[in-house]
This record gives sequence, structure tokens and C-alpha cells, in this order.
Amino acid sequence: MINASGVIYNHCIALHKRYYRMWGKHLSCAKLQSHVAKLRKRNRFWQTVGSQAVQDICQRIEKAYQLFFKYNNTGARPPGFKKVKKYKSFTLKQAGYKLLGGNRVKIGNKVYQFYQSREIEGKIKNLTIKRTALGELFMVVVVDEGSSSQVKFTTGKIAGFDFGLKAFLSCSDGTKIESPQFFKQSLNAIKKASKQHSRKLKGSTNRERARKNLVRKYEDISNRRRDWFWKLAHELTDKFDVLCFETLNLKGMQRLWGRKISDLALGEFLQILEWVAKKKNKRVVFIDQWYPSSKTCSNCGYILESLDLSIREWRCPKCQSVNARDENAARNIQMVGASSIGLGDVSRLRAAITA
Ligand SMILES: [Zn+2]
Repeated sequence: MINASGVIYNHCIALHKRYYRMWGKHLSCAKLQSHVAKLRKRNRFWQTVGSQAVQDICQRIEKAYQLFFKYNNTGARPPGFKKVKKYKSFTLKQAGYKLLGGNRVKIGNKVYQFYQSREIEGKIKNLTIKRTALGELFMVVVVDEGSSSQVKFTTGKIAGFDFGLKAFLSCSDGTKIESPQFFKQSLNAIKKASKQHSRKLKGSTNRERARKNLVRKYEDISNRRRDWFWKLAHELTDKFDVLCFETLNLKGMQRLWGRKISDLALGEFLQILEWVAKKKNKRVVFIDQWYPSSKTCSNCGYILESLDLSIREWRCPKCQSVNARDENAARNIQMVGASSIGLGDVSRLRAAITA
């Protein structure tokens, strides 16, 4: 089914490109969907995936095009062809599957068994079948939980956090959270595995074996990292009621983690944190990335014109207080975050916190 989805995906991409060549405009999602639905009726292989999954493929492509139009001037590229072998997933919304209770699910007209890692709570919104690079299959269920509840103030504490170049997070209370040492060790293991992979002859059994070994190394590090993220999320939500962050800064992430591994690491942490916070009725607040959190003096509000990345500490020309870069940024994020959820305006909070 995933392979069929990949074939349909590529067909849609080809249609998009042809339509643009012929008419000089973007093929709308609705047009594509109705055309592809017609094609599917005549194609046995395409029928192996549910009609809703086919609609979803069209929607994914539409989404990718909209992103492309939005970020066109930043060198973004339109969605392109993908290798069917590497195509990863398909999604079904309300129809095309049925959970039969226990560990059995019917997809299309076949019944499959799965290992259930956790109870499915709430109303099911959709179901995604994913294929990893190792060829394992996962079932991802999205549920609707209903209404969210009020923030429960158990600690009475608000904290701001800054993603740093050195420490993983700097907290407004002056503490730092370092990224664990095992990341570096795992990085070395990945480097070694990747070197071995590239040395093997293309298309050989040895190369495939080396590829799987490399993928396992990647999965190992992301599992350990995720585990650490969960623990950290619990620790922080036990300690604070409201946690403020800047919206993601991808450049900063890459500098911190190195490329491949980095991809989405911080995004993943924030997702886990938001989930844990919701469960415990705590709150995660995001402030605008363009707020000058590093350049503003958290003591008096003075804003520097510029601040080089290499400067770790600076003296405020107005109030003479000495600001440690990361902690100062975290304190500003804390104040802006607190004011954005109606806990007072920034200047009053500043006075109260620094008093
Ligand atoms: Zn100052």
C-alpha cells in the first residue's frame, strides 16, 4: 500500500508539472483530487490504497506547494519526485480502516495484527501507516481529546528558557541544562558506520548490511535522545507552572547539534514538553522569535544596537548591571511570555522580578 501511495504521489507530481507547462498556472487541489479519483477507478494497483489515502496524498502535495509559494524567495523548492522504495507513509481519515479490538486492525479488506504500545484514548481522527528505513511498519493514531483545562498553579513559578550554543537550555532562574555526553559518543559511532557504508560497493549485499547498520545507529541515538527529552519534560513541568520559549530558530539548532542529528531535535523536545504540560495542566508559551531577547537588558529594558555572538557577558550602559548572555535572554523570554498570557505588562514584571 505504501508503494502504491508512492507511485500515485509521483503521478500527481508529474500531473502538476505538466499542468503548469500547459497552462502556466498551479493545478488546484480539488481538480487534482477529482482527476486522480477517476484514474484510480481504472487502476487495480492504485486501488490497493483507500480513496481517502489518495485524497491525502493530493493534500500533502498541495501543502508542500503552498509552503513553496510562501518561501519562494528563500530558495525553497517545489515538491519533487520521490523514490517509491523510500516513500514513507499514507494516511486514512474516517474510512478505509477499522480497529477490531485487541491488537487487530482491518485496513482495506485485510486484517493485520500489531503490537499495541499504548491505549488509544479519545476519538480517533486519523490513522497513518509509516515505514522506517529498516522496513519496519508503524501505525500512528491521532486522537481528539476534547476540551482542554485551566492551568493548574502548583508551584507558582514561571520560567523562561533560551536555547544556547553551549548549554541545551538556559533557565531564567540561572540554572543551565547541558545536553548529555552520550550524544557525542553516538555521533562518533555514526561517523564510523557512515564511513563503512560509503566504502562498500554500490548494490552489494555488504552495502545493504552497512546501510541497515547505519540506520540502526541513527535510531539508537534518536531513541536515547527522546528518552532524555521525556525525562527533562517531566522534570521541568514539575518545577514550573508556565514555561516560556522563543519560537524555533532552525539556524541555532543546527549550530548546536550538528546537521543530520539536529534536524528537528528541538522541535521534538518542544512537542514532548507541550504534551507533558497538557497532561499536567501546565502551560508552554511561545514568544516571537524576533524579540531581541539577547540584546535587551533584563534589568532595565535598555536595548543594545548589536551584540556579537561571541560575547558571553555584557555591562548595560544604562543601569550598569552585568548580564550573562544566555541567562539574560532567558529572563527576557520569561517576562515577555508572562505578559503575553496576561500576567502583567513587561515593565511591571521587570520591576517585580528584579526588585
Ligand atoms: Zn540595564
